[in-house]
Amino acid sequence: MSSWPHRLAVVVPTPAHSTIAGPLTYGSEFALPPGTLVRVPLGQRDVLGIVWGEADGDALPAGVEKKIAGTLEGLPPLGEGWRRLVGFAAAYYQRSVGEVALAAVPPQLRELSPEQWERRQRRKTATGEGAPADDPPPLTDEQAGALSQIRTEPGPFLLFGATGSGKTEVYLRAVADVLAADAAAQALVMVPEINLTPQLQARFVERFGEGAVVALHSGMTNPQRLKAWLAAHTGAARIVLGTRMAVFASIPKLALIVVDEEHDPSYKQQEGARYSARDLALYRGKLEGAKVVLGSATPSLESWQASEKGRYRRLAMPSRVGQGRLPEVRLVDMNHQPRGTVVSPPLLLAIQERIARGEQALLFLNRRGYAPVLACTACDWKSECPNCSAFRVFHKIDRTLRCHHCGFTERVPRACPTCGNLDIAPVGRGTEQLEEHLATLFAGTLRPDGQPARVARMDADTTRAKGSLEAQLGEVHSGAVDVLVGTQMVTKGHDFRRITLVAALNAESALFSSDFRAPERLFALLMQAGGRAGRDASRAGHSQMWVQTWHPDHPLFAALRKHDYPAFARQQLAEREAAAMPPFSFQALVRADARTQEVAQAFLRAASEAAQELPEADQVTVFPPVPMAVQRVANVERAQMVVESVSRPALQRFLAGWGPVLQGQRVKGLIRWAVDVDPLAI
Ligand code: ADP
Ligand code: ZN
Ligand code: ZN
Repeated sequence: MSSWPHRLAVVVPTPAHSTIAGPLTYGSEFALPPGTLVRVPLGQRDVLGIVWGEADGDALPAGVEKKIAGTLEGLPPLGEGWRRLVGFAAAYYQRSVGEVALAAVPPQLRELSPEQWERRQRRKTATGEGAPADDPPPLTDEQAGALSQIRTEPGPFLLFGATGSGKTEVYLRAVADVLAADAAAQALVMVPEINLTPQLQARFVERFGEGAVVALHSGMTNPQRLKAWLAAHTGAARIVLGTRMAVFASIPKLALIVVDEEHDPSYKQQEGARYSARDLALYRGKLEGAKVVLGSATPSLESWQASEKGRYRRLAMPSRVGQGRLPEVRLVDMNHQPRGTVVSPPLLLAIQERIARGEQALLFLNRRGYAPVLACTACDWKSECPNCSAFRVFHKIDRTLRCHHCGFTERVPRACPTCGNLDIAPVGRGTEQLEEHLATLFAGTLRPDGQPARVARMDADTTRAKGSLEAQLGEVHSGAVDVLVGTQMVTKGHDFRRITLVAALNAESALFSSDFRAPERLFALLMQAGGRAGRDASRAGHSQMWVQTWHPDHPLFAALRKHDYPAFARQQLAEREAAAMPPFSFQALVRADARTQEVAQAFLRAASEAAQELPEADQVTVFPPVPMAVQRVANVERAQMVVESVSRPALQRFLAGWGPVLQGQRVKGLIRWAVDVDPLAI
């Protein structure tokens, strides 16, 4: 029996902690270059795999060694840059290459049979480029200054531009530059949230034409995703817009990467390979010689620190376009308001003024649903979730109690399940109730056109149906809505022209969380929210940002009042340095899920003890295991343990050595464990 003429190392979708974490060897009659997509037998079925290189080691006889089942005819191999990015991400985030690689290709490519693929290939039509339509506006001096540096310097750049300073125009021009310089060049532009993609896509299509632009995000159907992915992979699309997943798109002639709102935590993937798309964008830029522009009005402290040290070139655009002014910040001391106040009287008055002038107000509350808890007035029954250490949220619209952690949903009981009392009442407030409350309050308030004021709500519940987000944004932009209520979803990125008042109702609960990043998050959230007010210069003179707070003396508000991000960053970085916290140290989390909290913690404790044997042990601090903030979800107990080092390479070596040790721990009742490198939520 002879062996196959070619032996290839192929990565297949293997889970991170399985025994087959590396590439598998397959025989082939033909030489196939690395990056070729192939179908290979794995267990009882054929799966999609990617050729990673030549296999080494001794050949097995044909019949013993498995053979590649087929290739995707006509599909160019994935490039070296892409493969190196995937390899790096897998190693850095402690996952298998196969898992990361196969998660990064469109689901439909994994599922199509060879026959389906062939049929698709025959149907395929070429995408042409549209002729650019709109005339770009003349740049402001600040925009021109930023662009000339992007043109002439290598970067990476931190575009520190106030809300409304025209960062998008800088991205458009920077993209136009690289596309003009090279007829094949491509650009990647990322935004943190799906709901920001329609607006961005519209701007890019206007400028570059329909055929030049594709979007990639998880809200697309599988056929849409495959089509967009192929357009990027074959070079037909010059511009790829997307959410974090787009950082793994195959873009063979990548010349520029933009990461808009780079501070946004949504860039961090929270399951599987827990990668940071922003950090990978920087790595990918270096790898592929693409320029990288990170943009934000409130950069992450990591990026700000890097720009302080000169590792990133900081480009400042402090002014709003066209004499626009940043909103005046007003704090309402809730200690001096009547008990039970939802919207304080002075804030109500200010909103009424807006309605009467034909302007809009935006109120945000970080809690969807009608009320976070439903409680019996006679006994101590509360709407606890039976599966989680959390309350189920009361949604009045369909009279349900829904758990926002595990999804468990039930009709609201007619009477208290414990004592039979008929009087069960909502406790606290969510956006649904706020909408109802405001609609009652403003029922008699008229707009300049004599129509009654309209209150609308935008949150994950109202935007679930396809197209509903676009429709709702359209109503805000057209002026049909006077008061918009929402979760933090409405505070990010949107270019609302008529909003002159923004109010945060309960934002500060974040300040008392145990997470050391809570102040950074809150400051960014409030600055971003304020950024939605007064974007149109003709209405900006009286724009305001209101914050209802129980702690008006918190230093964070002093910086917020002056829109002084650098002062805030200085103060925070001093604290972080004194406590040796990131960005002055590097962290990873090990998380364990088990049937009981004891088992989860026992696994972590054993891992911690075993870690003392590793060569880097003296450079790494392993903290004791603790239960997670929401300790039980869907009847699974969760615990975590922080690992920290002042040296990133030492931490990386430590984690690499620790992986097999963790894998070797056999603990009864353990469900799963995972490592989160550079975690954002502790
Ligand atoms: P940012 O992302 O910095 O918050 P945007 O990019 O949304 O700001 O720009 C704010 C507004 O200013 C948008 O309506 C945009 O069309 C407009 N704009 C940007 N640059 C210019 C310019 N050079 N001239 C006129 N208007 C501009
Ligand atoms: Zn009761
Ligand atoms: Zn639950």
